[in-house]
Amino acid sequence: MRTIENKIKAEADRLGFSFLHITHSGQTPHYPAYLRWLADRHTGEMGYLLSERVKHSRGEPADLLGKARSILVFGARYTPLTQTLPPKHNQQRPLGQIASYALHADYHTALKQAAKQLMSYIVQEMGKEVQYRIFVDSSALLEKDTAFMAGAGWIGKNSLLITPETGSFQVLGCILTDLDLILDKPFSKDLCGSCQKCKQICPTACITENHNLRAEECIAYLTIEYKGVIPRELRSKIGSWIFGCDACQNVCPWNHKSQAQAENNTNLLPLVLTPGVDLLAEIELDELAFREKYAASPILRATHIGFQRNLIVAMGNSGSSACLPSVNSVLEENPNWLLRLHAAWALAALHPPDLSQKFEKALSIEEDERVREEIRLSLSECV
Ligand code: SF4
Ligand code: SF4
Repeated sequence: MRTIENKIKAEADRLGFSFLHITHSGQTPHYPAYLRWLADRHTGEMGYLLSERVKHSRGEPADLLGKARSILVFGARYTPLTQTLPPKHNQQRPLGQIASYALHADYHTALKQAAKQLMSYIVQEMGKEVQYRIFVDSSALLEKDTAFMAGAGWIGKNSLLITPETGSFQVLGCILTDLDLILDKPFSKDLCGSCQKCKQICPTACITENHNLRAEECIAYLTIEYKGVIPRELRSKIGSWIFGCDACQNVCPWNHKSQAQAENNTNLLPLVLTPGVDLLAEIELDELAFREKYAASPILRATHIGFQRNLIVAMGNSGSSACLPSVNSVLEENPNWLLRLHAAWALAALHPPDLSQKFEKALSIEEDERVREEIRLSLSECV
């Protein structure tokens, strides 16, 4: 006879989840390491991670439900797409890259819907009321560590959960329940071994020794969460990434091993965008057009201004003189100082023959001291 745990896993599989494991609702094994990471202040502007409420719920997830007894932790696989971009861009129409997960339907909505369907099935099977709460990509829980504790996989050197069967191209979620279920065993191995590929490829070298990141230097943070001036020394390292970064996942051998068998398991997260964004067309989108284009995608999280800032940095990194008119127009005419500041940097990076004249003209009309300082710095580096 099939156990309720086996029935739940079979239903999760039928719904399209890449895995479902069961664990307890107590503290996860890497919680003390997480507190040390917080103390080292690698959170960038994600100040919410430092709040007592978040620290408490991450340490005592059971309190999120009052009387939680178990956590169902699940993943949903998406198709890796940035590996397949042509290595050399068309210099007349340079492309920006979007992390693969963001080319799919917004996983927050899709996973929550599927998790609700799963809970309806469980309630029906149990024949009684079940207390539960669903979390998807929530700061309230240490999701990756919970998945590790539930035996789904291990946390790789790039800080992502890697499952041996499906790799790391997946998004995670948890359901806290008051059900007493038979728990899965924690994952006991670190299968990274002596591999260093993610550390070697990381453009900003932000992967630290202890399977963690200096998040404030990670391109995924800089292009999504962070809304301010991108540190000058990191701008050239961002390359063509305009939303997120897949570099450390693309090189991971576990993603190559799992790719073939995982291809069929993406039905929860359909593709909504194609990889490779035309930077010159994209910079022309006004806020309304941006919101319409990305209505079904997590890209809205970057905000229109944040996304435009990323486009300008990617233009500066493109080496394409085709970007000069757009960058120059932002510098001279855009009402947003943040965009003008990054445009000044991008113009210097593209280095047109008349750069000094362009900067002198910009200085003659620029009133914001932050932008003027960027222009002066760029000018001093060019001479
Ligand atoms: S996402 Fe990119 S920047 Fe961040 S750790 Fe991975 S390779 Fe480095
Ligand atoms: S690239 Fe290598 S070191 Fe990095 S997460 Fe994958 S297996 Fe681990």
